[in-house]
Amino acid sequence: MTIFYNFGGNMYINITNGCPCKCVFCIRKNADSVCDNDSLWLEHEPDFEEIKAAFAKFDKNGVEEAVFCGYGEPTVRVEMLLETAKLIRENSDMKIRLNTNGLVRLIHKNFDISRFAGLIDSVSVSLNAPTAERYNEVTQPSFKENAFDEMLKFAADMKNLGIKTGFTVVDIISDEEIAECEKLAEKLGIPLRVRHYITDNESYT
Ligand code: SF4
Repeated sequence: MTIFYNFGGNMYINITNGCPCKCVFCIRKNADSVCDNDSLWLEHEPDFEEIKAAFAKFDKNGVEEAVFCGYGEPTVRVEMLLETAKLIRENSDMKIRLNTNGLVRLIHKNFDISRFAGLIDSVSVSLNAPTAERYNEVTQPSFKENAFDEMLKFAADMKNLGIKTGFTVVDIISDEEIAECEKLAEKLGIPLRVRHYITDNESYT
């Protein structure tokens, strides 16, 4: 079972296959893993003992960044995410990044995102589209009404907590829509990265 895996020289972390979205570009539809790693489909959601054991075994030589990503939305298991981040913080010098859809407060009502402060150094939030309507088409979240607004608010709030925050879009939307996303990101003072869509590894990070 692959909990920690190397991708681009970073240590990626796979703690859940759960996700409330069905993004049209999601790599999970096209492959079972990335690079030469074993399948990222988990036999079961790992408990903390399994995570600790896998972390101890992982070759951390030269690794500078730990990234919560995997084959699911890491914040679906936000308590385990926090516990794992603490484990990494206490046992390494790695920077810790969270790749997320930004919907943690819809997934876990009343979750206090200030709990990320001090444990998460940077966050990459999937903006995906410039409007709520297009966001719902591209991301297909199970919470339709307010997902787009909540994702934007999450990014702004993380930035206000002093966590380095960035947005991403995948270039499956039009150039005009990407330009609109750039304007929106600029308005919020959050940098935007455009990811190229292909059906394997590169579309992953
Ligand atoms: S949020 Fe991530 S894991 Fe979930 S469907 Fe979208 S790309 Fe896939």
